[in-house]
This record gives sequence, C-alpha cells and structure tokens, in this order.
Amino acid sequence: MVKKFDIHQLSQPSSWVEYDSEMSDCHCDARRNGDYCRCKTVASTKITEICIPEIVNLLFKNTEENNDKLLKYCVNRILTYSSANEKEHWIVSVSNGYYGQETDGTYLDYSTVGKLSIPISELLESKSLHQRVLIALEWEYGYLLDSLKDIKSCTEVSVDPAEIIVPQQEYYRKMDKEAIEQYKDFDGPICICLKVGDAYKVVDGYHRLQANIDKSSINILVLE
Ligand SMILES: [Zn+2]
Repeated sequence: MVKKFDIHQLSQPSSWVEYDSEMSDCHCDARRNGDYCRCKTVASTKITEICIPEIVNLLFKNTEENNDKLLKYCVNRILTYSSANEKEHWIVSVSNGYYGQETDGTYLDYSTVGKLSIPISELLESKSLHQRVLIALEWEYGYLLDSLKDIKSCTEVSVDPAEIIVPQQEYYRKMDKEAIEQYKDFDGPICICLKVGDAYKVVDGYHRLQANIDKSSINILVLE
C-alpha cells in the first residue's frame, strides 16, 4: 500500500537503528513446575549503530515519494545534522509480551522528531528543486551562504569528478577516511556545486566527492 512520507513515523518503534539488549535472570519456579517462565525483564539496552541512509530508506519505503531522489537527499542531510544522528536520542522500545518483557525496535525521542518536523515540512511544501536544496544547506550550515542567496535554479548533471573545483583545500586534505568510506555507494547526487563561469565549485559533499573521485563520471546538482 502506498502512503505519504511522514517524519513522525520515527516516533513509532521500528528497526530504525541497531541495538543490544540484556535480559534479567529468571528466579521463578515456572519451569520447574512445567510452566513457561514469564518473569524476565529487559535489564539494559544500548544503541549500537545509527545509519542515516538506512533510516531514510525505511522512512520512504512504500511511499509516494520513494522515487524522489532529491527529496531523499535533503532528508538525509537534515537527519545527518540533527539529534537523530546521536545515540542518546534513540530509545529501545520495551513491551510486555506473553513470556515477559521483550524489545520491539527503536524510536526517536519526541522532542527530536518535533524539531525535525519543521524543516521537513518546509521541504515538502517547496516545489522547486533549488528551494529544497537551499533548505537542506541552510539547515546544515545554520545559515545560508551569501553566494547562495540569489540562486534561481538547480539541475542534475553528469560530470568528470576531476573537473570539479574544490575550495578550502586544507579542509579537504584533513577529512577522515572512515567518513569517506561510507559514501562509496552513495545513492543520490554526489555533491552540490555552484556554477562559476563554466566551472563547477563544490559547496556541499566534499566527502562524497572524495569517495567517488576515481569514477569517470558522477551526478551532481548544479546551482545557478
Ligand atoms: Zn522466570
């Protein structure tokens, strides 16, 4: 069944993030008496890994917007730079089952979901590509770069990554290898560039560009 994309799904338990849990020991007589033990409780839980691209895929699964790669990209950016990317904001859901307590997935705390719903509804209300990209960039940087204030369009183009201009070379060299590895199979625009004359200058996606620098061509979003 096709539904509409809804960020509030994150406050419902599902397999959003990875976790471990430990059960309490059983001290009852049930098993000795030939019955089932129902006294176990969840003693402790721990979030072990957050993978934003996986969360985004789950959120968009079976939705009308599932093929909208740019919207997925913007949601990915917003989640990455939010508390959704911090383990302490995820909760392991514990419920009472027939055989005692059990865990049934994880959910994001209500306050984080509430904060996320603001830029996400802005995204959904914006119909043009460039507005959506600017909302995601403004969220990421906390402000809108001066060079982006007069942007009127955004188009997806295929280019040789070697041709892209990378400012801030120093920062580029210091990027950690682990972050770069994550982006090798990135499904979506590799980076966002600003058109300067005939050249493309990166404004977002340094890690993703670095991860895909050896390819003969990559898809990028060009702002003009
Ligand atoms: Zn028991």
